[in-house]
Amino acid sequence: MLNIKPNLRLLTALPLLAAMCAVCAPAHAIKVFACEPEWAALTKELAGDQATIYAATNALQDPHQVQAKPSLIAGLRNADLLVCTGAELEIGWLPVLLRQAGNPAVQTSQPGQFNAADYVRKLEVPTRLDRADGDVHASGNPHIQTDPRNIAAVAQALSKRLAEVDSVHASLYQARLVDFNTRWNQAMQRWAQAAAPLKGLPIVVQHKGFPYLENWLGLNEVASLEPKPGVEPSSAHLSEVLSLLQRQPAKFVVRAAYNDGRGSEWLSERAHIPVAVLPFTVGGSDKAKDLFGLFDDTVDQLLKASK
Ligand SMILES: [Zn+2]
Repeated sequence: MLNIKPNLRLLTALPLLAAMCAVCAPAHAIKVFACEPEWAALTKELAGDQATIYAATNALQDPHQVQAKPSLIAGLRNADLLVCTGAELEIGWLPVLLRQAGNPAVQTSQPGQFNAADYVRKLEVPTRLDRADGDVHASGNPHIQTDPRNIAAVAQALSKRLAEVDSVHASLYQARLVDFNTRWNQAMQRWAQAAAPLKGLPIVVQHKGFPYLENWLGLNEVASLEPKPGVEPSSAHLSEVLSLLQRQPAKFVVRAAYNDGRGSEWLSERAHIPVAVLPFTVGGSDKAKDLFGLFDDTVDQLLKASK
Protein backbone atom coordinates (compact mmCIF):
# COMPACT_ATOMS: atom_id res chain seq x y z
CA MET A 1 0.00 0.00 0.00
CA LEU A 2 1.24 3.45 -0.83
CA ASN A 3 0.77 6.14 1.69
CA ILE A 4 1.76 9.50 0.29
CA LYS A 5 0.48 11.59 3.16
CA PRO A 6 3.83 12.04 5.00
CA ASN A 7 5.52 13.08 1.77
CA LEU A 8 2.84 15.62 1.10
CA ARG A 9 3.26 16.99 4.56
CA LEU A 10 7.02 17.28 3.98
CA LEU A 11 6.46 19.06 0.65
CA THR A 12 4.20 21.66 2.19
CA ALA A 13 6.71 22.17 5.03
CA LEU A 14 9.66 22.83 2.71
CA PRO A 15 9.01 26.50 1.91
CA LEU A 16 8.54 27.15 5.61
CA LEU A 17 11.84 25.44 6.44
CA ALA A 18 13.62 27.46 3.76
CA ALA A 19 12.19 30.68 5.17
CA MET A 20 13.30 29.75 8.67
CA CYS A 21 16.86 29.01 7.57
CA ALA A 22 17.17 32.41 5.94
CA VAL A 23 17.33 33.89 9.42
CA CYS A 24 19.49 31.28 11.15
CA ALA A 25 23.27 30.90 10.96
CA PRO A 26 24.54 28.72 8.12
CA ALA A 27 24.95 25.06 9.08
CA HIS A 28 28.65 25.32 8.25
CA ALA A 29 29.23 28.41 10.43
CA ILE A 30 32.41 28.17 12.47
CA LYS A 31 32.04 28.07 16.23
CA VAL A 32 33.98 30.76 18.05
CA PHE A 33 34.52 30.88 21.80
CA ALA A 34 35.42 34.44 22.85
CA CYS A 35 36.89 34.99 26.31
CA GLU A 36 35.77 38.65 26.54
CA PRO A 37 32.89 40.62 24.96
CA GLU A 38 35.18 42.86 22.88
CA TRP A 39 36.54 39.85 20.98
CA ALA A 40 33.05 38.42 20.51
CA ALA A 41 32.06 41.79 19.01
CA LEU A 42 35.13 41.95 16.78
CA THR A 43 34.54 38.41 15.53
CA LYS A 44 30.95 39.42 14.73
CA GLU A 45 32.25 42.38 12.70
CA LEU A 46 34.69 40.20 10.79
CA ALA A 47 32.66 37.04 10.28
CA GLY A 48 29.00 38.12 10.40
CA ASP A 49 26.69 35.13 10.23
CA GLN A 50 29.56 32.90 9.21
CA ALA A 51 30.43 32.48 12.89
CA THR A 52 28.39 31.27 15.82
CA ILE A 53 29.88 33.16 18.74
CA TYR A 54 29.86 32.17 22.37
CA ALA A 55 31.01 34.90 24.78
CA ALA A 56 32.47 33.44 27.98
CA THR A 57 32.13 36.63 30.04
CA ASN A 58 30.09 39.82 30.10
CA ALA A 59 31.09 43.42 30.77
CA LEU A 60 30.06 43.33 34.42
CA GLN A 61 32.42 40.47 35.21
CA ASP A 62 36.05 40.84 36.25
CA PRO A 63 37.91 39.19 33.36
CA HIS A 64 40.80 38.23 35.67
CA GLN A 65 38.53 36.04 37.77
CA VAL A 66 36.02 33.74 36.14
CA GLN A 67 34.45 30.52 37.42
CA ALA A 68 35.13 27.49 35.20
CA LYS A 69 31.42 26.62 34.95
CA PRO A 70 30.16 23.50 33.06
CA SER A 71 28.53 25.76 30.43
CA LEU A 72 31.92 27.30 29.65
CA ILE A 73 33.56 23.88 29.39
CA ALA A 74 30.82 22.71 27.02
CA GLY A 75 31.17 25.89 24.93
CA LEU A 76 34.92 25.42 24.58
CA ARG A 77 34.59 21.70 23.81
CA ASN A 78 32.64 22.49 20.62
CA ALA A 79 34.71 25.49 19.47
CA ASP A 80 36.67 25.68 16.21
CA LEU A 81 38.39 28.89 17.30
CA LEU A 82 39.19 30.35 20.70
CA VAL A 83 39.65 34.14 20.75
CA CYS A 84 41.08 35.58 23.97
CA THR A 85 43.12 38.55 25.13
CA GLY A 86 46.12 36.48 26.21
CA ALA A 87 49.00 38.29 27.98
CA GLU A 88 48.01 36.25 31.07
CA LEU A 89 44.66 38.01 31.53
CA GLU A 90 42.90 34.62 31.62
CA ILE A 91 45.69 32.80 33.47
CA GLY A 92 43.45 32.16 36.47
CA TRP A 93 40.73 30.30 34.59
CA LEU A 94 41.45 29.46 30.94
CA PRO A 95 44.04 26.70 31.55
CA VAL A 96 41.46 24.83 33.67
CA LEU A 97 38.83 25.22 30.94
CA LEU A 98 41.22 24.05 28.23
CA ARG A 99 42.14 20.97 30.26
CA GLN A 100 38.55 20.08 31.06
CA ALA A 101 37.18 20.74 27.58
CA GLY A 102 39.85 18.50 26.03
CA ASN A 103 39.40 20.05 22.59
CA PRO A 104 42.69 19.55 20.66
CA ALA A 105 41.83 22.25 18.06
CA VAL A 106 42.00 25.14 20.52
CA GLN A 107 45.01 24.17 22.65
CA THR A 108 48.03 26.49 22.98
CA SER A 109 49.97 27.03 19.70
CA GLN A 110 47.21 25.48 17.57
CA PRO A 111 45.70 27.64 14.78
CA GLY A 112 42.42 27.34 16.71
CA GLN A 113 43.79 29.45 19.57
CA PHE A 114 44.09 33.19 18.93
CA ASN A 115 45.49 35.62 21.50
CA ALA A 116 44.82 39.25 20.64
CA ALA A 117 47.64 40.67 22.78
CA ASP A 118 50.21 38.91 20.57
CA TYR A 119 49.49 41.51 17.87
CA VAL A 120 49.92 44.79 19.77
CA ARG A 121 52.81 46.52 21.54
CA LYS A 122 52.40 45.91 25.25
CA LEU A 123 52.68 48.62 27.90
CA GLU A 124 53.78 48.22 31.53
CA VAL A 125 56.00 45.21 30.85
CA PRO A 126 57.60 44.60 34.28
CA THR A 127 61.35 44.64 34.68
CA ARG A 128 61.05 42.34 37.68
CA LEU A 129 58.45 39.79 38.70
CA ASP A 130 57.44 39.48 42.32
CA ARG A 131 54.12 38.10 43.56
CA ALA A 132 54.40 40.66 46.36
CA ASP A 133 53.70 43.36 43.76
CA GLY A 134 50.17 41.98 43.25
CA ASP A 135 48.54 40.79 40.03
CA VAL A 136 51.40 41.82 37.76
CA HIS A 137 51.46 40.18 34.33
CA ALA A 138 54.85 39.09 33.00
CA SER A 139 54.03 40.02 29.42
CA GLY A 140 52.73 43.50 30.20
CA ASN A 141 49.32 45.05 30.86
CA PRO A 142 46.63 42.87 29.24
CA HIS A 143 43.84 45.49 28.95
CA ILE A 144 44.63 46.28 25.32
CA GLN A 145 41.01 46.84 24.18
CA THR A 146 40.83 50.43 25.50
CA ASP A 147 42.85 51.78 22.52
CA PRO A 148 41.02 51.59 19.15
CA ARG A 149 44.37 51.40 17.33
CA ASN A 150 44.89 48.05 19.08
CA ILE A 151 41.45 46.91 17.90
CA ALA A 152 42.53 47.74 14.32
CA ALA A 153 45.73 45.70 14.66
CA VAL A 154 43.88 42.75 16.18
CA ALA A 155 41.21 42.91 13.44
CA GLN A 156 43.90 42.43 10.79
CA ALA A 157 45.33 39.36 12.53
CA LEU A 158 41.98 37.88 13.53
CA SER A 159 40.64 38.14 9.97
CA LYS A 160 43.69 36.22 8.74
CA ARG A 161 43.17 33.59 11.41
CA LEU A 162 39.49 33.15 10.54
CA ALA A 163 40.51 32.57 6.93
CA GLU A 164 43.09 30.02 8.05
CA VAL A 165 40.70 28.04 10.23
CA ASP A 166 37.80 28.33 7.73
CA SER A 167 39.61 28.65 4.38
CA VAL A 168 36.47 28.01 2.31
CA HIS A 169 35.22 31.47 3.32
CA ALA A 170 38.54 33.34 3.07
CA SER A 171 37.21 35.86 0.54
CA LEU A 172 34.22 36.67 2.76
CA TYR A 173 36.55 37.44 5.70
CA GLN A 174 38.76 39.57 3.47
CA ALA A 175 35.81 41.62 2.21
CA ARG A 176 34.39 42.13 5.70
CA LEU A 177 37.82 43.27 6.97
CA VAL A 178 38.07 45.92 4.24
CA ASP A 179 34.59 47.17 5.14
CA PHE A 180 35.37 47.17 8.87
CA ASN A 181 38.66 49.03 8.36
CA THR A 182 36.92 51.78 6.40
CA ARG A 183 34.29 52.33 9.09
CA TRP A 184 36.84 52.00 11.92
CA ASN A 185 39.33 54.49 10.46
CA GLN A 186 36.57 57.07 10.05
CA ALA A 187 35.41 56.50 13.61
CA MET A 188 38.96 56.75 14.97
CA GLN A 189 39.36 60.17 13.38
CA ARG A 190 36.06 61.27 14.91
CA TRP A 191 37.08 60.03 18.39
CA ALA A 192 40.54 61.60 18.25
CA GLN A 193 39.02 64.94 17.28
CA ALA A 194 36.33 64.86 19.98
CA ALA A 195 38.81 63.76 22.66
CA ALA A 196 41.45 66.40 21.88
CA PRO A 197 40.54 68.52 24.98
CA LEU A 198 41.44 65.54 27.22
CA LYS A 199 45.11 65.68 26.31
CA GLY A 200 47.41 66.05 29.32
CA LEU A 201 44.64 65.86 31.95
CA PRO A 202 45.73 64.30 35.25
CA ILE A 203 43.51 61.40 36.32
CA VAL A 204 43.20 58.75 39.03
CA VAL A 205 42.29 55.19 38.05
CA GLN A 206 40.73 52.53 40.22
CA HIS A 207 42.47 49.51 38.64
CA LYS A 208 45.44 49.66 36.30
CA GLY A 209 43.11 48.90 33.43
CA PHE A 210 43.65 51.99 31.28
CA PRO A 211 47.30 52.47 30.23
CA TYR A 212 46.38 51.97 26.56
CA LEU A 213 43.53 54.48 26.77
CA GLU A 214 45.87 56.98 28.47
CA ASN A 215 48.51 56.40 25.83
CA TRP A 216 45.97 56.94 23.03
CA LEU A 217 44.43 60.14 24.43
CA GLY A 218 47.43 61.56 26.30
CA LEU A 219 45.82 61.27 29.74
CA ASN A 220 48.18 61.46 32.69
CA GLU A 221 47.63 58.85 35.45
CA VAL A 222 48.75 60.24 38.82
CA ALA A 223 47.50 57.47 41.12
CA SER A 224 45.53 54.23 41.30
CA LEU A 225 43.09 53.28 44.04
CA GLU A 226 44.22 49.68 44.24
CA PRO A 227 47.33 49.58 46.44
CA LYS A 228 48.57 46.78 44.14
CA PRO A 229 46.93 45.55 40.91
CA GLY A 230 44.06 43.21 41.77
CA VAL A 231 44.00 44.20 45.47
CA GLU A 232 40.83 46.09 46.50
CA PRO A 233 41.35 49.71 47.67
CA SER A 234 42.13 49.83 51.41
CA SER A 235 41.21 52.83 53.58
CA ALA A 236 44.88 53.45 54.35
CA HIS A 237 45.78 53.57 50.66
CA LEU A 238 42.74 55.72 49.80
CA SER A 239 43.87 58.26 52.42
CA GLU A 240 47.33 58.31 50.88
CA VAL A 241 45.83 59.00 47.44
CA LEU A 242 43.67 61.77 48.92
CA SER A 243 46.67 63.54 50.42
CA LEU A 244 48.64 63.06 47.21
CA LEU A 245 45.82 64.82 45.33
CA GLN A 246 46.17 67.84 47.59
CA ARG A 247 49.69 68.33 46.25
CA GLN A 248 48.99 67.01 42.75
CA PRO A 249 45.32 67.52 41.83
CA ALA A 250 43.50 65.26 39.36
CA LYS A 251 40.49 66.09 37.18
CA PHE A 252 38.52 62.88 37.72
CA VAL A 253 38.60 59.22 38.77
CA VAL A 254 38.20 56.48 36.17
CA ARG A 255 36.73 53.08 36.87
CA ALA A 256 35.42 50.23 34.74
CA ALA A 257 31.74 49.24 34.83
CA TYR A 258 32.66 45.94 36.49
CA ASN A 259 34.63 47.56 39.36
CA ASP A 260 33.06 48.00 42.79
CA GLY A 261 32.29 51.73 42.98
CA ARG A 262 32.87 52.36 46.70
CA GLY A 263 36.56 53.33 46.55
CA SER A 264 36.10 55.83 43.73
CA GLU A 265 32.97 57.33 45.37
CA TRP A 266 34.86 57.77 48.64
CA LEU A 267 37.66 59.65 46.89
CA SER A 268 35.26 61.60 44.67
CA GLU A 269 33.40 63.04 47.69
CA ARG A 270 36.55 64.05 49.55
CA ALA A 271 38.65 65.31 46.66
CA HIS A 272 35.61 66.96 45.01
CA ILE A 273 36.25 65.43 41.60
CA PRO A 274 33.79 63.38 39.51
CA VAL A 275 33.96 59.67 38.67
CA ALA A 276 33.95 58.56 35.04
CA VAL A 277 32.45 55.08 34.83
CA LEU A 278 33.69 53.65 31.53
CA PRO A 279 32.04 50.68 29.82
CA PHE A 280 35.55 49.12 29.45
CA THR A 281 34.13 46.60 26.98
CA VAL A 282 31.08 45.96 24.80
CA GLY A 283 27.98 45.75 26.99
CA GLY A 284 29.48 47.85 29.80
CA SER A 285 26.86 50.58 29.26
CA ASP A 286 23.60 51.01 27.35
CA LYS A 287 25.43 52.84 24.57
CA ALA A 288 28.29 50.34 24.28
CA LYS A 289 26.25 47.91 22.18
CA ASP A 290 29.12 47.20 19.80
CA LEU A 291 32.76 48.27 19.40
CA PHE A 292 31.78 51.62 17.87
CA GLY A 293 29.38 52.35 20.74
CA LEU A 294 32.09 51.33 23.21
CA PHE A 295 34.40 54.14 22.08
CA ASP A 296 31.60 56.65 21.46
CA ASP A 297 30.54 56.22 25.06
CA THR A 298 34.09 56.08 26.47
CA VAL A 299 34.96 59.43 24.89
CA ASP A 300 31.58 60.91 25.97
CA GLN A 301 32.00 59.84 29.59
CA LEU A 302 35.57 61.20 29.75
CA LEU A 303 34.54 64.55 28.25
CA LYS A 304 31.60 64.81 30.64
CA ALA A 305 33.85 64.15 33.66
CA SER A 306 36.45 66.66 32.47
CA LYS A 307 34.00 69.58 32.34
ZN1 LIG B 1 44.01 44.06 35.21
